[in-house]
Amino acid sequence: LFAAVEMAPRDPILGLNEQFNADTNPAKVNLGVGVYYDENGKLPLLKCVAQAEAQMQADPKARGYLPIDGIAAYDKAVQELVFGAGSAVLAAKRVATVQALGGTGGLKIGADFLKRLNPAAKVLISDPSWENHRALFNNAGFTVETYPYYDAAARGINFEGMLAALNAAAAGTVVVLHACCHNPTGYDLTPAQWAQVVDTVKARGLVAFLDMAYQGFGEGIAEDGAVIQQFLASGLDFFVSTSFSKSFSLYGERVGALSVVCATAEETTKVLSQLKIVIRTNYSNPPTHGAQVVATVLSTPALRQLWEDELAGMRLRIRAMREALVKALQAAGVTQDLSFVTRQKGMFSYSGLSAAQMQRLRSEFGVYGVDSGRICVAALNEKNLPAVAQAMAAVLKS
Ligand code: PMP
Repeated sequence: LFAAVEMAPRDPILGLNEQFNADTNPAKVNLGVGVYYDENGKLPLLKCVAQAEAQMQADPKARGYLPIDGIAAYDKAVQELVFGAGSAVLAAKRVATVQALGGTGGLKIGADFLKRLNPAAKVLISDPSWENHRALFNNAGFTVETYPYYDAAARGINFEGMLAALNAAAAGTVVVLHACCHNPTGYDLTPAQWAQVVDTVKARGLVAFLDMAYQGFGEGIAEDGAVIQQFLASGLDFFVSTSFSKSFSLYGERVGALSVVCATAEETTKVLSQLKIVIRTNYSNPPTHGAQVVATVLSTPALRQLWEDELAGMRLRIRAMREALVKALQAAGVTQDLSFVTRQKGMFSYSGLSAAQMQRLRSEFGVYGVDSGRICVAALNEKNLPAVAQAMAAVLKS
């Protein structure tokens, strides 16, 4: 039966992880993965999460099946976070939100629904993008192409190229947009640029799918979600996937959501019924624990405040690491302008290093990043930063 099965390529980033684990260099540093580590290099268990879990354990509940679309209080909390408590679109019941298995699950539910709705549509993702975007939409049956995004020479965004590609796209094309903290580059559009994107999506009849995997990691919860308000103001229907993997440090619980903004309450009910079919025929219904934790935190004022403080702590620590990295590289004699590292947002930095330089970082110094030049600044800390800066300086200077 399986004689003709070929070996699938290894996931490039998880493959890097395996290589890191096998490396015997005691000074090795893993900047390959997209995970936030605290100042001690540990994956944090947020206090708000521990307290919500303690609360839940004090009153343990039996685990029946959840509704297909998940915990109602969770879906409501997601909606209020993403669209704003008291927003007109929620009051008008124009958003269908379903609990999903992480941000990936939200994207996949949306992709499967879109494929049924508009099977001939193409999907455009940014060049470059999170490596799973292409595979995920491909596997949902779409042809996936890219719109220009990263401009290596300008150390920024090729915005003209991006707009031109959107303007050239056929009506109905699904455009996957990173709502904030672009992965992998770290470069985000300005509000004025977003306004032009929204206008273009509207004028060309495109379908916006906003992937929001890092809300709160860039500038703040509201600031990072501002693009959602711009899309709402346009009156367009659109998709938003949410991930709490990073913002709650709940990677393994698979907590996310998909929200679909519709024109009317009646449409919303119909869309929700279709999303439920996608879920039912894939995994029936979602798991309880992670979503219950997030719902408890978001809807309990003291825990919510604690979460916002802890999230701000992660955000500010990442920023401090960006600044410290630039300083340390300059102190190590790197003369190139590296200020772009502090302009980038979120967990990642496109360092501008070539694949050959990234390979040298690994083989000579045990510093693991992705060959694209992407490093996870959220994995830097005061202890590992000096060695990382020395290694980067060595490959940059020779
Ligand atoms: N979208 C982007 C842009 C991401 O970077 C990630 C996570 N690395 C995801 C979606 C998926 O998030 P999750 O782990 O919650 O599935």
